[in-house]
Amino acid sequence: MSKYALALVNIKGLGVKTFSYLIPDEMKDKIQIGQAILVPFGRQGLINAFCVGFSDYLPEEIRAKKINKILDENPLFSIEYLKLLEWVANYYCTDLVTVLNAAVPMKLIEKASKVEQAAEFVTFEGASKRQIEVLEILKEMGKSPLIVFEKMAKTTRATIKKLEILGCIKITNEDVYRNPLDILRISEREALFELSGDQQKVYEGIKKKITTGSTILLHGVTASGKTEVYFKLIDDTIKSGKNVLFLAPEIALASQLTKRLAKKFGTEDVAIWHSSISEGERYDVWQKLYKDEIKILAGARSAVFAPLKNIGLIIIDEEHESAYKQTNPAPRYDARVVARKLAEFHHCSLLLGSATPDISSYYKAVNSNNLFELKKRFNDAKVPPVKVINMQEHGRAAYRSIISKPLQTAITQTVEAHQQVILLINRRGFSTYTQCQACGHVIECPNCAIPMIWHAKDKLLKCHYCNHVEPFPDTCPECYSDALKNSGTGTQKIEMLIKELYPDYNVERVDSDVMVRKGEHIRLLERFQRGEIDILVGTQMIAKGLDNPNVTLVGVISADASFNLPDFRASERGFQLLTQVAGRAGRGEFSGSVFFQTYNPDYYALESAKSQNYEEFYNTEIVAREEFDYPPFSQIIRLILSSENNFRAEKSAQEIALRLCTMIEKYGITERLEVLGPTPCVIERINGMYRFQILIKNKLEEKGHNFISSFLNKITMPRDIKMSIDVDPIDIL
Ligand code: ADP
Ligand code: ZN
Ligand code: ZN
Repeated sequence: MSKYALALVNIKGLGVKTFSYLIPDEMKDKIQIGQAILVPFGRQGLINAFCVGFSDYLPEEIRAKKINKILDENPLFSIEYLKLLEWVANYYCTDLVTVLNAAVPMKLIEKASKVEQAAEFVTFEGASKRQIEVLEILKEMGKSPLIVFEKMAKTTRATIKKLEILGCIKITNEDVYRNPLDILRISEREALFELSGDQQKVYEGIKKKITTGSTILLHGVTASGKTEVYFKLIDDTIKSGKNVLFLAPEIALASQLTKRLAKKFGTEDVAIWHSSISEGERYDVWQKLYKDEIKILAGARSAVFAPLKNIGLIIIDEEHESAYKQTNPAPRYDARVVARKLAEFHHCSLLLGSATPDISSYYKAVNSNNLFELKKRFNDAKVPPVKVINMQEHGRAAYRSIISKPLQTAITQTVEAHQQVILLINRRGFSTYTQCQACGHVIECPNCAIPMIWHAKDKLLKCHYCNHVEPFPDTCPECYSDALKNSGTGTQKIEMLIKELYPDYNVERVDSDVMVRKGEHIRLLERFQRGEIDILVGTQMIAKGLDNPNVTLVGVISADASFNLPDFRASERGFQLLTQVAGRAGRGEFSGSVFFQTYNPDYYALESAKSQNYEEFYNTEIVAREEFDYPPFSQIIRLILSSENNFRAEKSAQEIALRLCTMIEKYGITERLEVLGPTPCVIERINGMYRFQILIKNKLEEKGHNFISSFLNKITMPRDIKMSIDVDPIDIL
């Protein structure tokens, strides 16, 4: 047995770090990786930690202190789990501690140290009047943690002990789980649907590959019934005694999905995991997972790090969504990449599903013979026809130059028929910039090199990057004229215009501003689902997942907006958004229609989205990617150097690029590891920091990561310069 344990601690001011501690003899046969432990730390006294490794030697000649206590004998993770995290750290050119910090919530330790005994009512017999009152409360509560019981009954530990001696209550050590799904109270389980012929074929094809550890792509048009195929595969997997991890791109979709799963497979076996579940729930679910008591875990991105055991299938729905990638803080991981490795560890398949797959996922699936397709909607429901409204012709007659006549007519017909409308405008706020009509000055955030955006509801100009707010100025800060005008269109303006046009109908808006109130956007979507909202205006948040058979009209106010970003993925993102939002129409018995308003009707990605033709889009896009060596033909690693001092940021970026190029030349791999830049980022300044980027096109796969990691390890950054590394960045703005 080893002499020292490596303890992961979270120190105020220092962050998460590891230190070595001496293992006392009496702990030698008990201590395990993944246990929560108590260790002394300087003036802070005893602090909570995780045991993450062992060694017989200390890195330096220091005297290690002793571990004080093992807080919880049940480990919270295993060695295999740590191995996965090590791989993630290497892939993302970061360190294990950073990954551990994201994967294993440190708060878990605090919960572990507080695992409480539970009290349960037995009998009223033997007791005084006050005791009976206390017992009645416990009887009402059912089995409960002691502290909770103590509070609720306004009693003391001494009284409780007495009641235990009298035999009126039983105190047990078993864990009392909090299952967030309990509130669903699902009375009857739903049977699985009989699959259609097309679904059956796809299902059987996937089934044959399911134990090969490969990544499979299910490309199925919107409403083709992908979810039912997943359910059948899940059913098979849990019947074979294995567990399923099922990821959705965001919390709202994950909770919708969890409800559906619980209805089909029972609340007992299903759990949910995402960043917003309470710490108590997180601890409980973690424990259950660790004891292999959960069969299906549904969740958002971070669920890929939940310690689900014995995995037989991983499903990632809407796999093209950028929400699977964490952008900040590090580790900037992509749940799809981690899931692929996780599937390898478990020798099971990773099943990706989408109506508009990521170009790289599709490319890989085609070339590995792992592509399955559902080309028609379930029950042969028609994919709604798309009308492209050329705003060069229709703009002048449009309401406030924004809502065209044909779209207005369609909205009127739809709401009069008691059907529902979705209007997409992919910018939140009222307008998109504020400009002086006299001198042309655009009001920018003082911290970031981007325009401030007018929010009519709050009567404030807001920066969408750093949240800086300002009142609307009386005069232009440049020329002092009073000709400031809000231009461009955001969700709040559309909401206002639609309310003006349709005063007798119920209009609501969903964007991230309404999410300020917790759960508000989920409530709005549920009201929409129940038919209480006639017209829903919103950002891309309303483009996904909604399966509302009464929606027969989808209007995109400005289809061009999504294509206009200076990023190699702009066309892909725009195509995906338009196709997805179009897919919300006509999912039920009524056929639907879709309107794209645009100033650029001939753009190829718009044309493909109009005909909902993924292959056509893919075939054009993949040629451009190959020509410019963009993913999937290379992998992008992005370094950002930032500083409050513009000159210092640029100089350090140049230095690093030069050193990197020299090392690449020395190894003779200039063809396989291409360095671009440094250049100022598209957004040159965020939060007062000037930003320069170096893009690396890596064609060496994991060897490239090792190379970059070892290069970065040799570099010490001056204190006024910040460097961030993003492997497979989702944008390069
Ligand atoms: P997707 O995930 O591809 O967008 P869904 O799985 O949500 O599509 O299916 C679209 C609609 O068709 C849903 O309302 C679903 O309940 C229904 N559906 C799909 N497959 C079947 C089936 N085999 N039997 C009955 N209804 C089905
Ligand atoms: Zn001016
Ligand atoms: Zn700002």
